[in-house]
Amino acid sequence: MSLIELKKVSKFYYNKNNITSGFSKLSLDLNLGEFVAITGESGSGKSTLLNVISGLDSYNDGEMFINGQETSHYTEIDYEIYRKKYVSNIFQNFNLINSYTVYQNVELVLLLNGYRKSKIKKKVLKVIDQVGLTKYKNTKASKLSGGQKQRVAIARALIKETPIIVADEPTGNLDTKSASEIINLLSSLRKDRLIIIVTHNYEQVSNYVTRKITMSDGKIVQDKKLKQTESNNINYFNFKEMNIPSKIRLAIRNTFNIKIKFLLLLVSYIILIFMLFFSYSSVVKINNEAKNYSGTNQVISKSSKDRIIINKVDKTYFTDGDYLDIEKISNIKKIEKDDLILGKKIDLSDEPNYNFYFYNTVFDYNTYVKKVDYGTLPSKENEIVIKGSKKRPYLSKQKDSLLKGTYQLFYGDDVIKDIKITGIIYDNNSIDYKFYLSNYLIDRIKFYYSKKNSKFEITLNNRIYKEGDIGTLIINNNIPVGNVIIDEEKNIYCEKENCINSKINYNSKNLYYTINKTFNVINVYNEENFEKLTGLKSNYYKAYTNSVFINEKDYNSLFDIKPYQSSIYVKDMEKIRDTVIELNNKGYNTYPIIDTLYVDNYTVQDLKLIKIFKIILFIIYDVVFFFISYMVIKMILKSRNKYYSILRILGATKKTIKKLLIYETINNINVAYFIFISFLILCNKNIIKISYVRKIIKLFVLRDYVVVYFVLLLMSLLISIKYSKKLFKDTALETYRQEI
Ligand code: ADP
Repeated sequence: MSLIELKKVSKFYYNKNNITSGFSKLSLDLNLGEFVAITGESGSGKSTLLNVISGLDSYNDGEMFINGQETSHYTEIDYEIYRKKYVSNIFQNFNLINSYTVYQNVELVLLLNGYRKSKIKKKVLKVIDQVGLTKYKNTKASKLSGGQKQRVAIARALIKETPIIVADEPTGNLDTKSASEIINLLSSLRKDRLIIIVTHNYEQVSNYVTRKITMSDGKIVQDKKLKQTESNNINYFNFKEMNIPSKIRLAIRNTFNIKIKFLLLLVSYIILIFMLFFSYSSVVKINNEAKNYSGTNQVISKSSKDRIIINKVDKTYFTDGDYLDIEKISNIKKIEKDDLILGKKIDLSDEPNYNFYFYNTVFDYNTYVKKVDYGTLPSKENEIVIKGSKKRPYLSKQKDSLLKGTYQLFYGDDVIKDIKITGIIYDNNSIDYKFYLSNYLIDRIKFYYSKKNSKFEITLNNRIYKEGDIGTLIINNNIPVGNVIIDEEKNIYCEKENCINSKINYNSKNLYYTINKTFNVINVYNEENFEKLTGLKSNYYKAYTNSVFINEKDYNSLFDIKPYQSSIYVKDMEKIRDTVIELNNKGYNTYPIIDTLYVDNYTVQDLKLIKIFKIILFIIYDVVFFFISYMVIKMILKSRNKYYSILRILGATKKTIKKLLIYETINNINVAYFIFISFLILCNKNIIKISYVRKIIKLFVLRDYVVVYFVLLLMSLLISIKYSKKLFKDTALETYRQEI
């Protein structure tokens, strides 16, 4: 039984309008141990015959037997298996991977066919030694001479241990000396093998070959056996699907192997990432704007949405311990203990001249002011610091006269005189002024508002009255502590129409607290005793009818400026609900300002529409990016066509090549993404100063980076799959032909 037998086999090429014959009705049998030379003039069909025998091309007519098996029903996959088991090719132009070393070129054959890297080293080195290239094993193929390259190709054929080696003009590109060395080498391998060589230079091989076949015009015109041969020991090449570690290793090698290709791909991917990043950021921005809706609130003047007003469930005031406990909540940015005056406005003017007039929010400087930009920090009770933009002439040109002046501070219907401004803080972003007051002033204002918000329930002789019924409280330090005097006319409310020595009870009540105090009515006043009791001129009597005179100490004890209500500000609005729950669990009532804001539904609706529009735009952009990148990346990858057709010739399956491409792509985008993230880190640290990028970074959360990565991954995988499909549209041979 012959190894290869052809019976009247014909091969035609169908072109657009005509059919050409490669060879026709050709019969031939070939056996192990033979070293066959096929010669003939150009166009006589030598290459076509070789391609059919080696399974790179199919035939149209007749029968071909491989090891006794008929092949007319062979599919592409059958031919693939046949090629792997039986055939090694050697080409005129070597078909080496130039960026690989000799060792890597030889090793590649075994890796592609499922051998483990660790197990093949010895074998690879042995074969390299066999072709005499040990010295060059770590030299890149591109650095070798033609003869050396062909030796590598032979080593690559040898390591496959197939029964058939076919060589198409293997010496065509070599000088005479190298050519004869190669032929010598090939002939030494013929034991247990069939070696077929196509040559138009028969003289070169005549001393070595065992058989000469001459072709002309698609027919065999001479078939001469020159030497007796025998052999029956047939070895097949054992192959498996390439293993994953080898695929990964090869993909990594291929990623970085050709520097210029790597850099071009990297640049393309980095550009793609930035396009994704910027287009996606516009979607994120809208997301954020939707959250930042500007609500309004008619009741609470300082209505920042990150504020939560809190008080204690048991209605008691906040202690320092409470504040320490609240500070432990991680999402809390700031605690505003003086919640009552938060957002309260004051007027400051140099009355009566009214040269200066300020109107704005107060803060206590002990908490907020560490240093001033002009002037000094306050040291006295009546001194304040002012903050505002330098653009204001008061704070720039007139700053010295500002610090010299004396001011009055108005709040509600109360006033504090002799106020001095000692320092200025500049904040050019702020539109209006802020005042920082001493604790004394703050307490006074708090006291005022506490009083203003309180109502009295007065009990006299077991009956309850309103303040208007009994009289307005007037501070008078002639009255001893614990006592009051009331208008004589109120005697009608008391037993025997005499209130002296009866008890009067004041129940001062507001939203936050109730204070209960009882005083002794030490006396009643009338026009006669008014001056004696109060120390006020008697002609004031008319102004003070219907009053209750009380010592300042007692009066003050009716009000409280302890913090019954505070406010906290959260850092992260997304977590505000968790913060509310945490505060509730700690025993606080919570009033998040955000819940009090009136939101314009129309605006939210609008934002939703804009968001949808932006998402559509994002998709359209990215489809366009995809096609641009595809064109660019395809062009770069085109330089790899030869590489992948060599892999196919060496036995890589479609699946393997696709995987290699995908792994290589993932490597590329990972490096590109790493560079991109490093760039963002540098921007964020302000080492690279691009404020627009910094703004986007502030908006992005981890999820957004993951989205960008996965869109990138998806796009690049689509690109590589599309490319690999194109690679397989042509058969290996056509791809190979295109490359020559
Ligand atoms: P040789 O190798 O002896 O030079 P070939 O086998 O290349 O001869 O060519 C044999 C015949 O087949 C020639 O007439 C050639 O024009 C034709 N032929 C070879 N390859 C193709 C092809 N891909 N398409 C069309 N005709 C082809």
